Amino acid sequence: MLFRDNIERMTGYVPGEQTLDHSYIKLNTNENPYPPSPAVSTVLSDPEALRLNRYPDPIADTVRDAAAAVTGTEREWIIVGNGGDDLLTIAMRAFVNQGGRVAFFDPSYSLYPVLADIQGAVSVAVPLADEFDLPHDVQDRIDGADLLFVTRPNAPSGNAFAIDRLAEIVTGFAGVVLIDEAYTDFAADNCLDLVKRLPGLIILRTLSKGYSLAGIRLGYAVADPQLVEGMMKVKDSYNVNGITQRLAAAALQDQTHMAANVDRICVTRQRTTDALAAMGFQVLPSQANFIFTRPPLPAARFAQDLRDNGILVRHFSDGRVKDYVRVSIGTDEEMDAFLNVTEKIVAGG
Ligand code: PMP
Repeated sequence: MLFRDNIERMTGYVPGEQTLDHSYIKLNTNENPYPPSPAVSTVLSDPEALRLNRYPDPIADTVRDAAAAVTGTEREWIIVGNGGDDLLTIAMRAFVNQGGRVAFFDPSYSLYPVLADIQGAVSVAVPLADEFDLPHDVQDRIDGADLLFVTRPNAPSGNAFAIDRLAEIVTGFAGVVLIDEAYTDFAADNCLDLVKRLPGLIILRTLSKGYSLAGIRLGYAVADPQLVEGMMKVKDSYNVNGITQRLAAAALQDQTHMAANVDRICVTRQRTTDALAAMGFQVLPSQANFIFTRPPLPAARFAQDLRDNGILVRHFSDGRVKDYVRVSIGTDEEMDAFLNVTEKIVAGG
């Protein structure tokens, strides 16, 4: 065979559908429905300032400075990636030995086991307890792993694990813990305070959700400078393109715009939750820009019926989550359309 054994055996990651047909209402990949900061358009409209003939800054210092300002740290605590996904790969390369173990919770982000397969590592999937909360025996189950991924708020369930529990887990663990805060802009609190006192901890953030910039691919991680320095060794040399660097710095400097969009989405999230509950859906409390809900009919059929009506949501066919659908929070108009169609589907039995 031409491929390495682990690549031959593995199944690739399947991203949510990105249709070119813009007539669909797209509630399937947790994007932000609102435009990014106007500062982003200002930068884009000045081709001279983009300096496209030049290579970008290999370590994206302007973005590091902007992210440091947002997180109350310094540049040395920040590493920037081509989306959060790039930083997950970087962490895998930097911390996981060949044949080593990578732990994560089940269900959580389905990219983690795929990255483990690519690395030739063993996946340790730790089942979440009832209500998708942390099980009591996390410590025993992750023992011996090189790296633990924790998604907070979790995807696809939307809940946020207790920060105290996470601090305990990091403290008792010999490997590196990466807390993936992709959805944290929509949550009541975050784990940033832990990073200064727990040197084996990495916090991952992205501009894809809160900042409405999934299209530019920008993520950053906050960690002790020693960890950052090691991760820098394994990243691609120019892993973040120059256009993205300039747009990302502008967006990070406009916290007001991001916070206003987040507030709107959180209000719509509550309204959608209440409306679905009134139609007999079980809706898990969400701290993210999506909700995870169990319809009063087979979930796969509900997702297909929505699709037939021009609305895309995400249904995962595996294990414990197969009875649920994940619905990203769109604009109020989009959610009204979703709720109207849902009402008809439910009434049609
Ligand atoms: N972590 C989680 C839990 C996610 O859902 C996503 C988005 N699919 C990411 C990280 C990465 O996002 P991005 O690469 O767009 O920054």
